[in-house]
Amino acid sequence: MSPTTVAEHRQRVAELVGLMPVLQLPLDECLGLVLAADVIAPVSLPPFDNSAMDGYAVRAADLAGPIPVTLPVADDIPAGRTQLNALEPGTVQRIMTGAPVPPGADAVIQVELTDGGTETVTINASVAQGTNIRVAGDDVQKGDAVLVAGTVLRPAQLGLASALGLARLPVRRRPRVLILSTGSELVEPGQPLQPGQIYESNGMMLASSVREAGGVAVQLRFVPDDVEAFHRALAPYLGSVDVIVTSGGVSAGAYEVVKDALASHDVRFTKVAMQPGGPQGAGTYEGVPVLTLPGNPVSAQVSFEVFVRPALLASMGHAQVERPTARATVTTSLTSPAGKTQFRRGLYDPSSGQVVTPVGGPGSHLLSALALSNCLIEVPEDVTELAAGAEVTVRHLQ
Ligand code: AMP
Ligand code: MG
Repeated sequence: MSPTTVAEHRQRVAELVGLMPVLQLPLDECLGLVLAADVIAPVSLPPFDNSAMDGYAVRAADLAGPIPVTLPVADDIPAGRTQLNALEPGTVQRIMTGAPVPPGADAVIQVELTDGGTETVTINASVAQGTNIRVAGDDVQKGDAVLVAGTVLRPAQLGLASALGLARLPVRRRPRVLILSTGSELVEPGQPLQPGQIYESNGMMLASSVREAGGVAVQLRFVPDDVEAFHRALAPYLGSVDVIVTSGGVSAGAYEVVKDALASHDVRFTKVAMQPGGPQGAGTYEGVPVLTLPGNPVSAQVSFEVFVRPALLASMGHAQVERPTARATVTTSLTSPAGKTQFRRGLYDPSSGQVVTPVGGPGSHLLSALALSNCLIEVPEDVTELAAGAEVTVRHLQ
C-alpha cells in the first residue's frame, strides 16, 4: 500500500471538519472571526454635519470684512446636542468638536483664532466656507457595502461596525474542539510522578494551538490505554463538540487504544509520507469528525500545524489558512528520509541574511527543541540530503 501524501491527508481532514454555521454574534465575540456576509451601512458616517474643532460656528461671509471682528455668541452647542437654533446672520454659536453644525453656519473657526469669549467673541482670522466642518457621509454613505464577506474582523473593522450602530455581525462561529490525550503513563502536571510515568504535555500544547487558531478548546485530560475508558470519556461531549482531536495510541505497537477503539468506527488509519507525524487517522465517531494524531509531542504538534490548523481556519471561513513561508539558507547540513516530507524544527533569523538553523535532531520526542524554534524547515519528499548553505522553505510558527 503506498503511503498517503501530506496533501491527500490535509484534504481529507479539511473535508471532515467542513464549515461552521453562520451566526449573528455580538461584536465583542467577533474578534478574529470572518465576516460571512457583506455589511451594508445602515447610516452615513458622519451621520450629520459636525464640527472638527472646538470653536465657533460662523457664516464665512460675516468674517469677510476687516479683521479682527467682534460678534455676539448666540448659543452654545456641546457634543450630543439634539435641538439646534439656526445661526442668525451677524452672530456666532460656540461649538465643540463633534457637535452638530447649526443650520445657516458654513464654517467653524477654531477657538485658538479667537479670544474665546462666551457673550461676545473677537475673531482674528477669516475662513473659507466649509472650513472645519465634517460633512455627513464624508466617511461612509448609507447603503455602501463597507465591509465585504470574507473580511477578518480586527479592531478597526469592529470599531467601524460599532460606529454604524451594529450590535452583531454574521460570522462563522468558532469550532469547539475536544482534545483527548491517551496513555496509561501520563500524569497531570502538578501531581507526583512515579517511575515509568511522564507528565502529560500534548493536551496543553494542542488546546493552546486550537485557541491560537481561533477555536474553542475543551481539554479532556487523558484516558488510560483502555478501550472502554476511551468510549466512556468521549460520551458526554458528543453532542457539544465539532471536532475530536486525540493524541497517542495510533502507532504499530500493542495497547494502541485509539486504533483499537475506533477500528470498528468510520475512521481510516493511514501512514502519511511525512516525518514526524506519519501515523494518522481521520474519520467520524458517532457522527463527530475525529482526527487522531500520534503521541510523540513533536509529532502531535507538527500534525496539528500541517493538518488541523488549516482545517480549523477554513472551517471559520478564512481564505488564508497557511502559515507564512519564506526561503532561507540552512546553516548546517541535514539528512531526511527518502519518500517523506520532513518537517525539522528551526530558528529563522531574518536579520542575518535569511538563514535558518536547525534546532535539535529529527527525534519526535525533542520537545525542548520545538520550544526553542520559531519555524518548521520543510525538506521535500525527494530530498535526502541538504548541504549547509542550501535553500529551503521555512514555515513561520509565530
Ligand atoms: P503513542 O503514540 O501513544 O505510542 O506515544 C508515543 C510517545 O509519545 C510515547 O513515548 C508516549 O509516552 C508519548 N506521549 C503520548 N501521549 C503523550 C502526551 N499526551 N503527553 C506527553 N507524551 C505523550
Ligand atoms: Mg500511548
